[in-house]
Amino acid sequence: MAKKTVRDIDLKGRRVLMRVDFNVPMMDGEITDENRIVAALPTIEYILKAGGRLILLSHLGRVKTEEDKLKNTLAPVAQRLSTHLGQDVVFVPETRGKAVETAVQALNDGDVMMIENTRHEDLKGKKESGNDPELGAYWASLGDVFVNDAFGTAHRAHASNVGIANNMKEVVAGFLLEKEIKFIGDTIENPERPLVAVLGGAKVSDKINVIKKLLDVADYVIITGAMAYTFYLAQGHEVGTSLVEADKLDLAHELLALGKDKLVLGQDVVTAKDFDKDSERNIRDKSAIPSDEMGMDVGPKTLENYFKYVEKAKTVIWNGPLGVFEFPRFAEGTKGFAQKLADLNESVTTIIGGGDSAAAVIQFGLADQFAHISTGGGASLEYLEGKVLPGIACVHDK
Ligand code: ADP
Ligand code: MG
Repeated sequence: MAKKTVRDIDLKGRRVLMRVDFNVPMMDGEITDENRIVAALPTIEYILKAGGRLILLSHLGRVKTEEDKLKNTLAPVAQRLSTHLGQDVVFVPETRGKAVETAVQALNDGDVMMIENTRHEDLKGKKESGNDPELGAYWASLGDVFVNDAFGTAHRAHASNVGIANNMKEVVAGFLLEKEIKFIGDTIENPERPLVAVLGGAKVSDKINVIKKLLDVADYVIITGAMAYTFYLAQGHEVGTSLVEADKLDLAHELLALGKDKLVLGQDVVTAKDFDKDSERNIRDKSAIPSDEMGMDVGPKTLENYFKYVEKAKTVIWNGPLGVFEFPRFAEGTKGFAQKLADLNESVTTIIGGGDSAAAVIQFGLADQFAHISTGGGASLEYLEGKVLPGIACVHDK
């Protein structure tokens, strides 16, 4: 079912509460990566241009102590946003009370304000993260409509998303959330085929449910990255000192049987003696990994074989790097694969989910070559598993 978006409601003169994801990385009070602020601009500018009176809410980090509270303030974010918008962003360093209410009353059409980190409410009893009903109702009372545009927290029912939505007559998605629904939700439900899923990264245990769901939905599932080694072990190969999860061997057997027509594994691997950026690089057949070496990346034959699958695909879902891409020497697989998908971007819709996979393609300078790079780590995994995310479910249907 399609969800309502900001395009579907009246905004002029109305108090618009908007949940954004401004959980930006900070170092000594300085924003080190402003991507999330920039990503929210289209929805914010749309609302302001339409004459909405905008009230922004976001969390920032975790707040467990008074010290966290001091450190995790949204004040620098409000300032940065103001620079981007070229207009004042009124920042209220409180999460409720007179100062907040006065600032809301003072808003004119096209004005924007921001309250302090919603998780400051967690200090006295998890009011935000525990979705305290009184808090959700209070925040809802500040606005006339609610826009959720925070995908990163959509897998959690917090007061600042579900709590507000429960007390609001109109609940719509912003453009970021709309895009996540279109590319992840709609693809899982009704993909353009062939759909090839590429699952890599660190651990099988993180991604069991995603593997199962995609074995169900996709036409082919490529298992790669560190988690492939548990499967190689299950196939009877020695994997040296590669990362394996011994307690997931039975599961790997089960998945190999379940996915025998769909699963794609590698033939060769790049190994090293040590987990080190300068460690010597060897190409080995997966049946000949020496006992003192570990798999660090996919081998060239494996990569060529993956290419055959994605060349025929209409849709590719990619979650998890193919190797230890943080070390340039072992980044070739991940980089080569990203470049291949970038080259195919006319014929293949590529959806990238997962924090490290996104970081990899950004690092390679290829980010704008893909249809969609998901902005949520945990949320995109749960969405790919086919779960109903509370932060999306609370948005009203068209
Ligand atoms: P994502 O965040 O995209 O979902 P993960 O968090 O599951 O991805 O995994 C990312 C990590 O997996 C990276 O830090 C990468 O170095 C690591 N990794 C990939 N392949 C290997 C490997 N062969 N051995 C060890 N670590 C690996
Ligand atoms: Mg990760």
